[in-house]
Amino acid sequence: MKWSEEAQQALEKVPGFVRKMARRAVEQEVRKKGADTVELSDVTAAQAKYLGYIGKEADASKTRVAVVRCEIVSEVCPGVACLKSFNRRESHFKDYPGDIELVGFFTCGGCPGRRVFRLVDSLMRYGVDVVHLSSCMLLEEDYPRCPHVKQIKKTLESKGLKVIEGTHH
Ligand code: SF4
Repeated sequence: MKWSEEAQQALEKVPGFVRKMARRAVEQEVRKKGADTVELSDVTAAQAKYLGYIGKEADASKTRVAVVRCEIVSEVCPGVACLKSFNRRESHFKDYPGDIELVGFFTCGGCPGRRVFRLVDSLMRYGVDVVHLSSCMLLEEDYPRCPHVKQIKKTLESKGLKVIEGTHH
């Protein structure tokens, strides 16, 4: 797929963490209409369709954070400790250099973390930068450690996301 100079320049202005996704979305729309060159108007149209949220709401100075937690543990834990820790910028949330914003808080969907891949794809549309693995997945205390944690981490990293192990412990 070719890109006109103006279209390419407009793409460069899209924040780096979503640029690849934006390129794919634009090319998909151009292909749909049977063209083989991306023009500036295609970028503008795709931005309005796919990136409205990012353009309007997101503040590039903030790091967007999500938490994935254990489906099994979620039956007995509403996630208060994770959220408290986030809200107070404590524990694993205390070392961010700037402001942070929580854009997702979701369970893995059950062993072996079957919906992590799909939900993260969806969150990437909203510019997620970092995913925390909840402390309940990692500790051998009240709950057994998740036996699939390595694979879940790999899945997230394969998307180009930073992964932090832990939330409140
Ligand atoms: S994959 Fe891990 S985090 Fe998900 S339900 Fe199973 S044990 Fe819990």
